[in-house]
Amino acid sequence: MQVRITVSFPYEAPVSQSLFDRASAVTPGGVNSPVRAFRAVGGTPRFMVSGTGPYLTDADGREYVDLVCSWGPMILGHSHPEVIAAVQDAVARGTSFGTPGAGEVELAEEIVARIEPVEQVRLVSSGTEATMSAIRLARGFTGRPKVIKFAGCYHGHVDALLAAAGSGVATFGLPDTPGVTGAQAGDTIVLPYNDIEAVRAAFAAHPGEIACVITEASPGNMGVVPPLPGFNQGLKDLCAGNGALYISDEVMTGFRVSKAGWYGIDGVRPDLMTFGKVMGGGFPAAAFGGRADVMAHLAPAGPVYQAGTLSGNPIATAAGVAQLRLLDDAAYGKVDAVSAEVRGLVTAALAKEGVAHQLQVAGNMFSVFFTDAEVTDYDAAKAQESFRFTAFFHSMLSQGVYLPPSAFESWFLSTAHDTAAVERIAAALPAAARAAAGATA
Ligand code: PLP
Repeated sequence: MQVRITVSFPYEAPVSQSLFDRASAVTPGGVNSPVRAFRAVGGTPRFMVSGTGPYLTDADGREYVDLVCSWGPMILGHSHPEVIAAVQDAVARGTSFGTPGAGEVELAEEIVARIEPVEQVRLVSSGTEATMSAIRLARGFTGRPKVIKFAGCYHGHVDALLAAAGSGVATFGLPDTPGVTGAQAGDTIVLPYNDIEAVRAAFAAHPGEIACVITEASPGNMGVVPPLPGFNQGLKDLCAGNGALYISDEVMTGFRVSKAGWYGIDGVRPDLMTFGKVMGGGFPAAAFGGRADVMAHLAPAGPVYQAGTLSGNPIATAAGVAQLRLLDDAAYGKVDAVSAEVRGLVTAALAKEGVAHQLQVAGNMFSVFFTDAEVTDYDAAKAQESFRFTAFFHSMLSQGVYLPPSAFESWFLSTAHDTAAVERIAAALPAAARAAAGATA
């Protein structure tokens, strides 16, 4: 087997550093989304110039095996020829019309065909818009104000959802960013993840006030922390029993962990669902959808307002349709298999160096927690030795493997991660595991 890079390349990244310096002068923190700035791990963020299959190339001309896949969307790898062809074909016909178009019908039909609880769907441009709109719709439909969310679940930068709790069973959300007012977060109840009794207690404490429970279908934003058996069903039952809507946020898991996302794995039927990432094929396309009687409340069919200049953009929908049509059972089988292979390599390397870790899995998504104990909620996730991840991350980066630059993120693979890419990961792991073992806080 030919390993494409077997030795570490120079770790400095002068061109990326110079771009970062320029970016920092004109953009807060030098980035357009905070986690890209490497604040959690330190060092110079790599500015990427191209991507092909499982590889990214940075501005210094160095190639990396990409285990971020644009935070999920690139499930077919970068620059998949059929997706690129669909995009080129769409671009040649114009970039935005501000009218209905055939592409958005096709994308909506793909989604409805794959995910049985989605009877109707509305396209938007980001996952944030999808969750924001789903919550507005839930409040409009039920006529109730309050929303339950879980600590450690991220639903985009929606004001009402940027609230996490301290300890306590049913803590009202305090905004955890300046700029979100107490009023905006005051109707948000933040509960510990995987604690169904806390949800039961919140419903009992606020009869007739809770519009919805929103949860990541299987959380990936505190690292991968799957729902305990029965948790999602418990949420669904409590919502149904109390006249609230169960909103499953599948922005990350949707079309990634199976053809029908996490719903395809656990079969718990949400009232509303949100999607993004994979469905846009690398372009800004997202969606929310679900029960037709609920969606009928959305403008212009109903009174709950929601709109978007670029919603259903023809380039984004062309990329999304092309990507989804390529995602058949064989494609998911391939991603699942390579995910299992990489997981096996990671855990073997860490075990060999005696590094305590938990490798947690949700379909083909996974992450590594540097801790002994199983992680079932955000507090446990935060208790890991993340300094070990920092050492592990930089060792992998220096050997040409690009991991998510935070211990609290899922790793993502694609159908393009072939034997050569896996060999390169395998070659990098022993030194990275040694770095993790030797790291100090
Ligand atoms: N919901 C989940 C589960 C997510 O993982 C994300 C983004 O990572 C979002 C919502 C927000 O999506 P976007 O970044 O497209 O606004």
